[in-house]
Amino acid sequence: MEGSLCKICQSPLGSVGIVTLGVKGSAGLSKASKERQDNLTFVTGQVVHSACRQEYCKPQIIAKYLQENSSGVPPLSQQFLI
Ligand SMILES: [Zn+2]
Repeated sequence: MEGSLCKICQSPLGSVGIVTLGVKGSAGLSKASKERQDNLTFVTGQVVHSACRQEYCKPQIIAKYLQENSSGVPPLSQQFLI
């Protein structure tokens, strides 16, 4: 799987710290993606960083992410300032 990117962080996957998603893993990530409104799809057999998977599925982190997205400055206007 050389040259593949982690779907979560969009960084190249190395040979360490990666995990191949099983049925439960992909279902959990798809659920987290819906909650985050990321529209990412995860399938069985997909490879991601194991640290990314843990972070992505953590309820506390999802809640924080949604909170920042709803109460913060809209991302587009931030980009225009740079
Ligand atoms: Zn990653």
